[in-house]
Amino acid sequence: LLFFFTFTYTLAQTEESFKFHLSYTDKERYENEERPDVQKQILVDIAKKLPVYTRTGSGAVRFCDQCHLIKPDRCHHCSVCAMCVLKMDHHCPWVNNCIGFSNYKFFLQFLGYSVLYCLYIATTVFSYFIKYWRGELPSVRSKFHVLFLLFVACMFFVSLVILFGYHCWLVSRNKTTLEAFCTPVFISGPKKNGFNLGFIKNIQQVFGDNKKFWLIPIGS
Ligand SMILES: [Zn+2]
Ligand SMILES: [Zn+2]
Repeated sequence: LLFFFTFTYTLAQTEESFKFHLSYTDKERYENEERPDVQKQILVDIAKKLPVYTRTGSGAVRFCDQCHLIKPDRCHHCSVCAMCVLKMDHHCPWVNNCIGFSNYKFFLQFLGYSVLYCLYIATTVFSYFIKYWRGELPSVRSKFHVLFLLFVACMFFVSLVILFGYHCWLVSRNKTTLEAFCTPVFISGPKKNGFNLGFIKNIQQVFGDNKKFWLIPIGS
């Protein structure tokens, strides 16, 4: 179910997000202008009306050439999904989708519950592994099943724990994977922890205000 949610929830195209698209006249003006400095200034003028506080490394307004929009803060263009994704974390090949603003909660739950599931499988199959070790298992086939199950559960448990732990750290600092690797640049300059609101507020930003819904896979 969580896999499905993470897979299906993509960029939420709200009315609010269309404000970031260039209007027809602005687009014409931008594309017909050949001087890069003037082009930059056109974007600065448009961005003045928008709640945008981050810039590119060179201090210019962040603009997506492919989607023709001023990128909202924390938004990045995904070349696989061919669109700009709000609060993009990374493109996940396992769920064949981008992980971002609209599905990050589901992604974390997916990781967390998968860790528990792998732990459950590994611990319940372990007594059979002991039997295998002592040569008490009846058939060759069941030996293979037990070994395979234990190996896969342990392998996924270790890799998921590392990934889940890393993302818990990111949530506590209010960072995305992209921002952890590339420091966001604000109007005032680069800030490593520029989005950090404090531990509880950082969690609330991903999981919602109501604690009752933090562990349940519903949009909150
Ligand atoms: Zn884009
Ligand atoms: Zn993507």
